[in-house]
Amino acid sequence: MMCFQCGKRKARIEGLCEPCFLESQPPLFIRNLKLARCRECDALYYGSWRDISLEEVIKEHVSLEDFDYRAEQHDMVITVSVVARQWFHEKQTHAFVQQTQFTIHLKPSLCNQCSRMLSGYYQAVLQVRRQHHTLTEEERALIDSIVVSSLREKDFISRVKERKEGTDFYFSTSRAASRAAHILKKQLGGVVRESYAIVGMDRQKGVDIKRGTILFSLHRYKPGDMVLCQNEVFEVVGSSQKLHLRNGHSEKVVPWKKVEYLENQNQLKTLSSSQYTMRDCQIIDVTPSQVLVMLPDFETRYMKRPKDIKVKVGNWYRILFFQEYAYWM
Ligand SMILES: [Zn+2]
Ligand SMILES: [Zn+2]
Repeated sequence: MMCFQCGKRKARIEGLCEPCFLESQPPLFIRNLKLARCRECDALYYGSWRDISLEEVIKEHVSLEDFDYRAEQHDMVITVSVVARQWFHEKQTHAFVQQTQFTIHLKPSLCNQCSRMLSGYYQAVLQVRRQHHTLTEEERALIDSIVVSSLREKDFISRVKERKEGTDFYFSTSRAASRAAHILKKQLGGVVRESYAIVGMDRQKGVDIKRGTILFSLHRYKPGDMVLCQNEVFEVVGSSQKLHLRNGHSEKVVPWKKVEYLENQNQLKTLSSSQYTMRDCQIIDVTPSQVLVMLPDFETRYMKRPKDIKVKVGNWYRILFFQEYAYWM
């Protein structure tokens, strides 16, 4: 049977020869595209705001099995030339090459994420404090770096407010704020308290919008503090997982529950720097029961010889004077 179109070649596909069959196929057509692009983060709106490259959008949009393309951008207009190798019928002996062009118009816009960030949107506030103290500059800087590195890809902090007593971080999501608080707790020790209030309704998702206040407080004890614990003075050397105390004779590692108990029994308290004096003193003489120390002002003083410390004449020791007692630190 001959092709009913041209009558010259043998019919092969649906009563037509292959060239006539391919001729009868619709031309390649790809519709033009308008794409919003976030001017802050370059996200593209393709179905939704996506962190996707222009190349990926073109591939998804053209959506053909076998094709090449070339894109030329002039300002906000991209012209895409497409060459496709098409198979319309299983009896085709070779691919049919079709060409077309389409344009992509880019429209500067602001994605949801960035517009929220810029408008100061937040779902939760993380308040970082230290019990009974204000945060020092070093503590603020350390906390800031821990908080920032806790952020996952889509999270953001829309505002940071430095207050006299500590820092407030305004988080895009409660989950991100809570995560940051628990990472702080793990690294620095302290207490996390979370509270949430329903402030509205997300109509799209049909769920309550909650606003969270998350308080992370560092324990009041910080390295370098002097404390009076069960009638002995110690220096705080660590305060993360447990309270770690040390003086010249001994060391104590106290769990936080025990710390609370001792505080309630009035057996543990922080000494303010005006309550004690710390001196580097040189040993002038050692007797079986006493040592003679020289204070920095060249005043000398006899003191009870410490039990657990080897004192040597000529060496320097750190001694803390509190009330009528001296403590070897
Ligand atoms: Zn034909
Ligand atoms: Zn954006």
